[in-house]
Amino acid sequence: MDRYPIVDAHEDLAFNGLLYARDYRRSAYAIREDEHRAGAADRRGRCMLGVPELLQANVAMVFATLYTLPQSRAEKGEPGYRTQAEAREAALRQFGLYEQWLAEDPRLGWVRCRDELTALREDQAEGAERIGVVLLIENADCLVSPDEVEEWYARGVRIIGPAWHRNAYTGSSGEPAPLTAAGEQLITAIEQAGIGLDISHMSDEAMRRTFERYAGPICSSHANPRAMVDQPRQLPGWALAEIGQRDGVAGIMPVNWALDSSWKQGDGKDAVSLRRVVEAVQTTAKLAGGYRYVGLGTDFDGGFGAESCPRELETIADLPRLAPLLVEAGIEPETIAGVMGGNWMRWLHTVLP
Ligand SMILES: [Zn+2]
Repeated sequence: MDRYPIVDAHEDLAFNGLLYARDYRRSAYAIREDEHRAGAADRRGRCMLGVPELLQANVAMVFATLYTLPQSRAEKGEPGYRTQAEAREAALRQFGLYEQWLAEDPRLGWVRCRDELTALREDQAEGAERIGVVLLIENADCLVSPDEVEEWYARGVRIIGPAWHRNAYTGSSGEPAPLTAAGEQLITAIEQAGIGLDISHMSDEAMRRTFERYAGPICSSHANPRAMVDQPRQLPGWALAEIGQRDGVAGIMPVNWALDSSWKQGDGKDAVSLRRVVEAVQTTAKLAGGYRYVGLGTDFDGGFGAESCPRELETIADLPRLAPLLVEAGIEPETIAGVMGGNWMRWLHTVLP
């Protein structure tokens, strides 16, 4: 089987690292064992990631989030933030954890500029076990004001997704509302800083306004086409068309609830096949105007575990199993290489300084 370099555009590593003490430098199975022993196995589901599994899958790069959880949406005893100042503190703690992991583990390296991206790809071509880390803010509440965009840029943040829930800046897919006045300023600040904009989780009206106002690089790090899964959280055809027109990328989520709107937790992983991901890839390509605009954004461990993912995927090490299914669907190897990772790398080149 061809081992395509994979780019995974969405992983909440530091959030889980701090809240659930998941040290992603270890194997997903080691993390599971620890959680099982501590009686905490159910809290976040079966862990799907660890550096060993990422390397096994040939993941070249991950977009690692600074994701903060508002107290109003916290479940399972998770501590959430009550004010934006608290959100900022939480994001800084997550950033600190990434700094520590990257300082201690030579297998992980920042990708903050084209030179770092090129160096990473050269190392990988020579067989080095290295994974690039791109910082992505999910939920802009951790910026107390739009002026702080520059500060996060200096820390290495290269992509911002303003929404998660309805926050100080924007409505969300679950709580529809337009951009706020501060949101309009934030969009301008993101553009001026040269940061990529991730529309995932935004309400339709906030997305439309963002397309009008923002001329920089656009993506969706993790969402599937609404034409296939009719949920507000997934992307309408016009948003995918816009991503295509602007040479952006939409990351497909190989997660059961985002692949089949009738899927319920109790249905388990066997209810959904990886073939649904092929369908999501094809539908996205059709609506965006080509496979060039399609990538992967797994969101594995994003509040669920392996029990909520297609039956062929026990950890991220199984993600390469998608490639032969894409071949079966008649897609050319070069195109598959783009979907697995090449398209995100192209897009990053336009974002990175
Ligand atoms: Zn998300």
